[in-house]
Amino acid sequence: MNIRKITALILTAAVTASLLAGCKKGAETSEESTEPVVTETSETTAETSETTTETSVEITYTADDLRKAGVNELNSVPILMYHRIYNMKNSETKYTGGNVDKDGYNRTSEAFENDLRSFYEQGYRMMRLDDFVDGNIDVAFGYSPLILTFDDGINDVVLEGWNADGSPKFEAGCAIDVLEKIKKEFPDYNVTATFFLNCGLFHNSKEDDHKVIKWLVDNGYDIGNHTYNHVQIGGKSPDEIEKEVGRMYKLLDEIIPGRYVDIIALPYGSPESSASKPEYEKIFKGSYEGFSYTTKATLLCAWTRSYSPFVRDYDSTAIRRIRAYDNKGVYWDIEMNFKQLNDGRRYISDGNPNTIVFPSSDNSKGDWLKNTFGHQVITYDK
Ligand SMILES: [Zn+2]
Repeated sequence: MNIRKITALILTAAVTASLLAGCKKGAETSEESTEPVVTETSETTAETSETTTETSVEITYTADDLRKAGVNELNSVPILMYHRIYNMKNSETKYTGGNVDKDGYNRTSEAFENDLRSFYEQGYRMMRLDDFVDGNIDVAFGYSPLILTFDDGINDVVLEGWNADGSPKFEAGCAIDVLEKIKKEFPDYNVTATFFLNCGLFHNSKEDDHKVIKWLVDNGYDIGNHTYNHVQIGGKSPDEIEKEVGRMYKLLDEIIPGRYVDIIALPYGSPESSASKPEYEKIFKGSYEGFSYTTKATLLCAWTRSYSPFVRDYDSTAIRRIRAYDNKGVYWDIEMNFKQLNDGRRYISDGNPNTIVFPSSDNSKGDWLKNTFGHQVITYDK
């Protein structure tokens, strides 16, 4: 698509001031300046004219604003991989920093809550994984996207019962309990997560799980596929893969027809590149007992930040995640990953999901930006 320099600059302080106010709603610390804002209206081009009515883009910043905020939408995004959250204090485990097992797959509620508070303070805001895969990144100006995922369903949504109004009562300290608490405290955090489930769902009663899964998708969370029996896909035959993947999609479709995400978190992160071998095609397309499915993305098990979906090295069949654990800042734990992200590698948003904005030097050879998802591209000189 077109890489174009900022052109027509029109001062419309009144309009843009209100837009920015809406954009920053609820933010506790707003250090962006309140100086007059420049609006750029971009004329449409011939080759995009059929879509311009719906993707017409209003720009509410200057190149100087972009430089100051370090806007860069070709940089990386943290997609965190959690498993079980236990209602425990960090002091109650014998492992480092709130890990509940030696490898840190499972964590205390104290550590999880501290993670969420820390990411918020560092300027991260949550978004749906499904939107990320679609290249639809809607995060306020100057902030960075953050994506949460949970694998296996165990201890993530533990039900104590149901309130009189039909809402679920969660056990204290399970993942959803902490998420809902943080959601109330920080309305502009956009709290959301994707839960990747096996046939055991959340391990409550079947009836409760079906009800709570409906509640989750009604309340801003997503449900994805982690295979029916939690199998390692690498090495399986196409028939076995089709059964494991298709049977799980079919189960989800019976509970929440058409409302799950067609994304798979690969158990054990295998295979590492799903598109690499023909026998893996059943991960992406197939049918089980007459139920047809397609998969649009697969997630690896974890070590590091994900590429932006707009760049050359991003692979939607092998999306990287960060293992959400504490290891004293080494071996790709949260601290190490966020240190690297915050050291000039993090995606910083321009606040507009319909544009891709970055310093021109970041695509100087012209081959780093690969997929624009039809968005307008804007560059600036650093
Ligand atoms: Zn798993």
